[in-house]
Amino acid sequence: FGPSCNVSQVDLSHHLSSEARMRKPNPMKEIWKLTRRKPNMVSLANGDPHFSLYPMRRIEYEMASIEEADPVAAWRKAGPSAASTKLVSSTYEPCALPLQTGLQYSHGAGLPDCQRVVTELTKFYHNPPDHVCTLALGNSDGIAKCFRLLGERGDYFLADEFSFSSITNVPLAQGIKWAGVKMDDGGMIPEDLENVLANWDTARGRRPHVLYIVPCGQNPTGSTLSVERRKQIYEISQRFDLMIIEDDPYYFLQYDSLSASTTDFSTPFVPSLLSMDTDGRVLRVDSFSKIMAPGMRLGWITSSALFHTHLVSYTDASTHHPHGFGQMLITELLSGPKGWQIEGFDRWVRSLRAEYHRRRALFLTLFEREVAPTGLARAAVPEAGMFVWIRIALERHPRLRGDLRRVPGGDRAGPRTNCAALMEELFERCLDAGLVIMPASIFALPVDAKDADVEDPVEDRLNYLRATFAGTEEAMEQGLAILGQTLREFFADEQ
Ligand code: PMP
Repeated sequence: FGPSCNVSQVDLSHHLSSEARMRKPNPMKEIWKLTRRKPNMVSLANGDPHFSLYPMRRIEYEMASIEEADPVAAWRKAGPSAASTKLVSSTYEPCALPLQTGLQYSHGAGLPDCQRVVTELTKFYHNPPDHVCTLALGNSDGIAKCFRLLGERGDYFLADEFSFSSITNVPLAQGIKWAGVKMDDGGMIPEDLENVLANWDTARGRRPHVLYIVPCGQNPTGSTLSVERRKQIYEISQRFDLMIIEDDPYYFLQYDSLSASTTDFSTPFVPSLLSMDTDGRVLRVDSFSKIMAPGMRLGWITSSALFHTHLVSYTDASTHHPHGFGQMLITELLSGPKGWQIEGFDRWVRSLRAEYHRRRALFLTLFEREVAPTGLARAAVPEAGMFVWIRIALERHPRLRGDLRRVPGGDRAGPRTNCAALMEELFERCLDAGLVIMPASIFALPVDAKDADVEDPVEDRLNYLRATFAGTEEAMEQGLAILGQTLREFFADEQ
């Protein structure tokens, strides 16, 4: 599962940052590899604590049974008495990845057995041509590593104009700047991406060479790119020589059409950008956070062999591979004697998406009951993920100044309206009423003032809130009732 050379991929080494080029492989790890040069090598080389000194010898995981037709529903419903499967990682009992290997120092790519199972998983869902997997500590870590691999101080990266700020704030300290791409209900608009690239003024700096994108259930807008848009975006990336960081933690949470009351388990998932990547320009980042548990802190990056090698060097010089506990569990689960295997994993994630589909339906029903009748807010129905983007009809607010609608050709610098101030007020009122909900302002891509869109300033488009249906039914019920009531009061307020 190490890097392999493929002549059909394009040479994309010019995208590497000077930091990545300057980084030397960890010399200790190079020596460590020699212990596998031939059988029975004797090592006096590494300070590896011997496994007999580990104060643990057995870990048992009690996992949901995937024998049921709808395993997530059965697991949730029966709680502590739901059917389960017990898996074991052990020093002395047979298992897929024994403790003496799983808890030892290992390679930056991850423990080879775990790397093998996530590679099989990636092949099963995406079947990418000639790519290699590198383990990471979830998507946040994986993406931060990709930014370091590709970003040079002064570079511009591209992203949706409303993006997940926990990620888009990360490369700012590296001296990276953002250029926003416009979105509609279907996510990033390929024509606008092309427009930004084709009309790039090199006085600003070199043309952006990295695109950060969330193709399914985008955070915060909940939008999902159609296959057609994905193909267009990939084609534009080839034409303008872009690297794509495909951040896809909600891939498995894709829902059926809006009219269907439940998700059909057999509906195929939308093809990823990785699955289309003949050139080796996609760095896809996957996570177990949303399909197992966020505290697992485990994910993986799938890339061409070139970027894999540099990711491994960076990992060997920073976090080192993720903790052994999570890697042992995943290896046991996907390939161990009693594990789910990939077929069982597939059954679990398809059942999970049916569960989130039910939650989405409940959220929308409650929204129709509590908020829609006010006529003051509209919810965009997400086709994936766990977020609903709610547009607030600020044009109906008695204290709105200016026109929310864009004036084509307008040359006014700065905001035309007091949208930002009103939304801040609404946010405070929700808090006072006991509701925490995410304001659009925190997702506006952090662009430099000189790069701001003066014709259509983002400050005039902040009349959105992000709500999630990931929580409990009570939270949705109570939260949407508070939102409906707060909107009524806020819009009745004349002073
Ligand atoms: N990217 C996006 C778009 C997300 O929504 C999240 C989690 N909310 C992450 C990355 C972070 O995922 P992880 O827990 O794997 O770091």
